[in-house]
Amino acid sequence: MILVYVETTADGVNEVSLETVTFARKLSAAGGGVPIDAVVVGPAPEGVPAQVAAYGVRTVHHADGDDFDRFSGAATATAVAAAREAAGSVVVMAGGTNRGMDVLARVAARAGVAMAANVVAFGGLSPFVVTRQVVGGAALEEMRLSQRPAVFTVAGHAVEPEPAAEPGTGTLQSLAVELAPEDLLVRVVSAERAAPDQSGSLKSARIVVGAGRGAGGPDGFKGVIELADLLGGSLGVSRVVTSLGWRPHHEQVGQTGSRIAPEVYIPCGISGAIQHWAGCASSKVIIAINTDAEAPMMTKANYAVVGDMHEVVPAINEELRSRRG
Ligand SMILES: Cc1cc2nc3c(=O)[nH]c(=O)nc-3n(C[C@H](O)[C@H](O)[C@H](O)COP(=O)(O)OP(=O)(O)OC[C@H]3O[C@@H](n4cnc5c(N)ncnc54)[C@H](O)[C@@H]3O)c2cc1C
Repeated sequence: MILVYVETTADGVNEVSLETVTFARKLSAAGGGVPIDAVVVGPAPEGVPAQVAAYGVRTVHHADGDDFDRFSGAATATAVAAAREAAGSVVVMAGGTNRGMDVLARVAARAGVAMAANVVAFGGLSPFVVTRQVVGGAALEEMRLSQRPAVFTVAGHAVEPEPAAEPGTGTLQSLAVELAPEDLLVRVVSAERAAPDQSGSLKSARIVVGAGRGAGGPDGFKGVIELADLLGGSLGVSRVVTSLGWRPHHEQVGQTGSRIAPEVYIPCGISGAIQHWAGCASSKVIIAINTDAEAPMMTKANYAVVGDMHEVVPAINEELRSRRG
């Protein structure tokens, strides 16, 4: 039995949870059709069981009530552990979100087993081996999960969410959970909606200026932002840039960011790793700027400028400004 901790919002199941259920289905198929259950904790829209049933979920264990109105990692972990017992699960999974990590780390600790974070694939069932991202996604490692339950989170966008060919029943089952006073010591007391995601403009931009580690730090984007402005385009960045917190995630291009297809893409200081390439390969013309002539992005680009982006980009900006008077 596979149990997936499914996160919901007022709009329904979040995307990473649907990806995780999709991943669970692959695992289930490899195991000969092991049933998949979901556990939902706290208030959830009525349509949630039908939504996860479409992805192959058999039973939805729902822990609800005043104690779950506001998120608490410890209380949610207690509910997930109760669902695991009810379902007799040997695998417990969640999306690799802040909450998924928080909850599953507690579930694993209480069960006395290890947890694998940010899993992107599984390599075999016996022994059960998973591949996971480490060093902010810069490397992959294989981990053998020999204890039961096997507990792991699935990295965001590791798989595309895909409804099941044969939907599950999505039977709703109320979950009785006994909380200890310490489960409610740390709780969310208020929540605010973040500024709107602007990735829409990046996805549809006709010109994208990219910047990677070569920018050198959070202050290294002035030139590329100016170039994007001068060309009426958008800024797109590599994952290193977002992982280091230099720029927000909605600007990321690649496998785990936006897929772009502009007329012109100008990646500056971006090596062109396969995961970045996955997001920009549909660009019509690529003009790469990099100090390393052998960087993959340079060898794949239509035009390659070998040089320091902090010298080349300001020179282009200067030229564009002077031509426009
Ligand atoms: C599952 C998974 C998903 C991933 N998803 C994504 C994704 O969506 N998007 C993504 O981008 N990455 C993704 N990655 C990470 C990816 O593998 C690379 O680590 C990342 O793209 C590298 O970013 P970078 O090119 O900025 O940095 P680096 O690879 O470090 O390259 C920096 C480049 O800048 C050049 N440079 C340095 N200084 C200068 C300068 N002054 N002027 C000009 N050039 C300079 C260097 O020669 C080098 O080529 C993912 C990884 C994994 C495992």
